[in-house]
Amino acid sequence: MKTYTFGPHLIRSSQVFFLSKKCFGFVNLKPVANGRILFINNFPPIRVVQRYRDLNSDEVTDLFLSAQKIGQVVEREYQGTSLTLTIQATGQTVPHCHLHIIPRKVGDWANNDDIYGEIDKSTRVDNEERPPRSFEEMEKEANFLRSFFQSDDMNYN
Ligand code: AMP
Repeated sequence: MKTYTFGPHLIRSSQVFFLSKKCFGFVNLKPVANGRILFINNFPPIRVVQRYRDLNSDEVTDLFLSAQKIGQVVEREYQGTSLTLTIQATGQTVPHCHLHIIPRKVGDWANNDDIYGEIDKSTRVDNEERPPRSFEEMEKEANFLRSFFQSDDMNYN
């Protein structure tokens, strides 16, 4: 099976639901939960760089145009009313620049910005409070999300 590099991790193509020329989108091992599951989709450039400042202009353009497409699907399909897009630097656990795309609803956290503390404490791979999802579960979600993208958004090779 083809794999994609995400910092020190190898991501299976079965986890990947979106591919552009410069970026790929894949489902999360430990999505944020708040009563119900709230998914965080990781969205890094294919070229491994640690920080947003290290991206070239083609990668920045591709990342944010693709984020717009992914965001539309994620907001609609997870019954959100808006989105949080965030790139962590302080608190970053994987040294490969990536955008988190999170569907939001009014009142999902008491204070809107509590989401950032939640990302910090809930999504760390070394946080044993939350077990990782199985490959089967992640593949199911990736298959679902992949079905919403046109073939020219997908560039598997
Ligand atoms: P950050 O803490 O902002 O660097 O985010 C890293 C994210 O990558 C967290 O949401 C983790 O749950 C996620 N993550 C780490 N390893 C994997 C993996 N193998 N598959 C999917 N998601 C992962």
